[in-house]
Amino acid sequence: MDYSSIPEPVLSVLDSLREHGREGHIVGGCVRDLILGREPKDWDITTDAKPEEVLAIFPDSFYENDFGTVGVKVLPFQKEGRPDREHDIIEVTTYRTESAYSDRRRPDQVAFVSTLSEDLSRRDFTMNAIALEVGSEGSEGRRDVIVIDPFHGRTDIQEKIIRTVGNPEQRFGEDALRMIRAIRFFAELHGGETENGWKIDDSVLDAIRKHAGLLSHVSRERIRDEFSRIILSNSPADGVELLRAVGLLRDIIPELEEGVGVGQNLHHKLSVYEHNLLALRTCPSRKLEVRLAALFHDIGKPKTKRGDGYRSTFYNHDHVGARMTRNLLLRLRFPVAIIEKTVLLVDNHLFYYNVGEVTETSVRRLIRRVGLENMKDLIDVRISDRLGSEVPKAKPYKLRHLEYMVEKVSRDPVSVKMLAINGTDLMKELHMEPGPKIGAVLEVLLSDVIENPSRNNREALLARAESLSHDDLPALREKAKEVIEEKREYDDEGIRSRHKVG
Ligand code: ATP
Ligand code: MG
Repeated sequence: MDYSSIPEPVLSVLDSLREHGREGHIVGGCVRDLILGREPKDWDITTDAKPEEVLAIFPDSFYENDFGTVGVKVLPFQKEGRPDREHDIIEVTTYRTESAYSDRRRPDQVAFVSTLSEDLSRRDFTMNAIALEVGSEGSEGRRDVIVIDPFHGRTDIQEKIIRTVGNPEQRFGEDALRMIRAIRFFAELHGGETENGWKIDDSVLDAIRKHAGLLSHVSRERIRDEFSRIILSNSPADGVELLRAVGLLRDIIPELEEGVGVGQNLHHKLSVYEHNLLALRTCPSRKLEVRLAALFHDIGKPKTKRGDGYRSTFYNHDHVGARMTRNLLLRLRFPVAIIEKTVLLVDNHLFYYNVGEVTETSVRRLIRRVGLENMKDLIDVRISDRLGSEVPKAKPYKLRHLEYMVEKVSRDPVSVKMLAINGTDLMKELHMEPGPKIGAVLEVLLSDVIENPSRNNREALLARAESLSHDDLPALREKAKEVIEEKREYDDEGIRSRHKVG
């Protein structure tokens, strides 16, 4: 282990605790990462000082939660994070136990304990229950480091095995979230494409299978955080599949399991579930929303399936799937921004696109529908869809061509704001009254301009607006809709013929 990589601010927090006659140890994920030769994301310290005392020792510190954790602000030292941030935080937590989960949802009270060894024994996995005792600075800046490893976490790290501290059934009985955490660590450690040998101990897997039902007691927010970590890991698809295999997915996202064994049609060899999973595996993006959309993009297929075998159809599965995605993300308490984005991507994943066949106009229309800022992500979902379908025609370079088309038309007007005139012009020049009609006229102008960007000049737009200003509001709304919907129909036709389902 390379101790020289322990950052200066961490050492100085340890020194301060020592100067105040307190113990301090580096502990948890950062020790595991050091042993693995990975750069720790954050640094945790555990101490016998009570939170009030920690607050007093470090004036620039604050209570982080109700579980005895105090955040100590230090000058930025971590590689990740915004470059202009003012500080990083080192978490200092009082020795405690974690067994008081009376409602099984979250630790409801903390019981502080007096020794490091009690604190280590409350921790979930052996690899997370290793502490470092760092001595004071000696000659030439040297420090002695002692590894405290009562549960042989180092051996388990060497053997690449995830094992609980103590009896797995008992530990999952105390806190059922640990079952998902086991799979989260597996997904993070088991390196992506190349299987590198990490595994979860059989007795741990058996205990999860036996106690999977306990997950229903755990708060949705805690489940969401670990599930998100699985999705963002190096092997998200292996993680999700493992969740399913041990019976945890049934509680988290039963909708995904509906696709197990559901066959598709002549364009797909895989079942709906296998296809969703492979789309996640091949997703080129590291964004949570895009990966979620890849995983859920066909989640509406089992419900919309008509017919069987080669001729099955799945009309409307995009929109049904979008609704299901919204409901399941709401249930898991995802933030609104993540939900809206993921739903938008699922809802629009079927857009029609074929090199040579699709015009700039239809690309502008697509941009108008989903927003320029979402185009790259939508294309990434589509690439996942194609790569995830295991058919030879999957050619993502075509979709990269669409990115080029998007770039090309991106300066063309695709929103009312980009028109050469605005509402004030309509009021001044055409003496229109303020009100919803103004917006409706602008919408019609926009649909004209999307057809033909050269119409985006002041004179032409004012002339057209003049003739439109005599229409009433419903007529205008109808006109704006016609162009958009007519084209949407056309797009849907394209999709049908592409899927040969019409
Ligand atoms: P990461 O590097 O991904 O943050 P981590 O190991 O630091 O991984 P955290 O969730 O930050 O994981 O938790 C910090 C430490 O707290 C863990 O290493 C573990 O020792 C302990 N811990 C966290 N959650 C639990 C839990 N539910 N039950 C028991 N111990 C836990
Ligand atoms: Mg951590």
